[in-house]
Amino acid sequence: KQKPQPIARILQQQGFGTRAYCTALIETGEVPVNGEFCDDPDALFDTEHLSWVIDGTTWHYREYVYVLMNKPEGVECSQKPKHHKSVLTLLPSNLRERDVQCVGRLDVDTTGLLLLSDDGQFIHKNTSPKKNVDKIYHATCRHPISDEMIAALKEGVLLHDENETLKAAHAQVLSEKGDNVLELTLREGKYHQVKRMVAAAGNRVDALHRVEVGEFVLPTDLKLGEWVLLDL
Ligand code: URA
Repeated sequence: KQKPQPIARILQQQGFGTRAYCTALIETGEVPVNGEFCDDPDALFDTEHLSWVIDGTTWHYREYVYVLMNKPEGVECSQKPKHHKSVLTLLPSNLRERDVQCVGRLDVDTTGLLLLSDDGQFIHKNTSPKKNVDKIYHATCRHPISDEMIAALKEGVLLHDENETLKAAHAQVLSEKGDNVLELTLREGKYHQVKRMVAAAGNRVDALHRVEVGEFVLPTDLKLGEWVLLDL
């Protein structure tokens, strides 16, 4: 268990700004800590179960953060994107200040479930090719999906620049969404894998949305661009 720490130091470590900034913030007396008035930046607190309120938002102490986002189109999964803004710009500055990274990547034009975290072990566990984490995608295809296409995806298709064939763990038409929406489960995470596999099976992806990664499921009420912090 950690020993009690000055509140200004805790806020700094949690990403709320420099030590001087957090000191000044506490001195305003406008940041209740554990529900009580506090204007002493050096007041000592246990990090366990610690909470504070800034501008009406309650934050809890978190050793690591785990963000589940419904990624919109037009944002890039990289720290320093070239052509679009980074998905990280959708997060508040205290989360951006922590070393939060995308857990795997989605293309700029792909939407849906994206995890972000500053926990290196978690990132590794959910991205390592050896861990076989299932990822479920809904791909809206240009042409109706034939039985042959489903069979090819399940048996395996050969992509350019890969020596082995890649196969889907599951593939089916989502008939309630039309004859051109494919639900595809992949174990790997190769570059543009869904788009390349669908192309190799003779169709084309017009829109791609991810709904699950391992145990994580995109909540249906989470809108594009919205995110939640997970308690893991
Ligand atoms: N496969 C793709 O082609 N694009 C993604 O964003 C994810 C998987």
